[in-house]
Amino acid sequence: MFSFIKIVLRNLIRGPSTEPYPFGKASAPKGLRGKVKFDAHNCVACRMCEHVCAGGAIQFSEVPDKSGLKFTLWHNTCAFCGLCEYYCPTKAIHLTGDYHTAHLQKDKYGYVETGLVKYQPCANCGTPMVPVSPRLLSLAYGQVNGDIARLTHLCSECRRQICDPVSSNRSEVK
Ligand code: SF4
Ligand code: SF4
Repeated sequence: MFSFIKIVLRNLIRGPSTEPYPFGKASAPKGLRGKVKFDAHNCVACRMCEHVCAGGAIQFSEVPDKSGLKFTLWHNTCAFCGLCEYYCPTKAIHLTGDYHTAHLQKDKYGYVETGLVKYQPCANCGTPMVPVSPRLLSLAYGQVNGDIARLTHLCSECRRQICDPVSSNRSEVK
């Protein structure tokens, strides 16, 4: 009896040992696979994340005015497997520690993460192209010198022509 009172008193003094969630903040454990975040700025539109997505939660589609590619991820369909982050070459997609995924059934189709990878015109021929991600450049080259920086503003065809000295179609690229 005495030891029981001791335990009660000790717990009263210590206070609650559980998180007060949802009435207060609760910390996410390290490594928790929570809601997915997308960073359009560093995306190279390789669509690997869409390809490997276990839940079929990711879709890329060209926007109606053809100014870029829209990324959509349905949180409701995501299985939090982490494959998208694992295979993304630039880590433009990653899982966060945000576990707040409760939502109403009527909101399930609107419960999405979206982003727009905007095309930019090739500096030489004007063809719309996916911009080269700054993170990809720094991963590939570390320091980016002037020549490489210039090439990143060219579409793949113009780059091929300028870099291939034996190309029969070689043309002058500014
Ligand atoms: S988020 Fe990553 S894997 Fe997905 S398309 Fe962009 S660069 Fe590729
Ligand atoms: S965590 Fe898995 S299921 Fe969720 S978007 Fe990424 S690949 Fe798809």
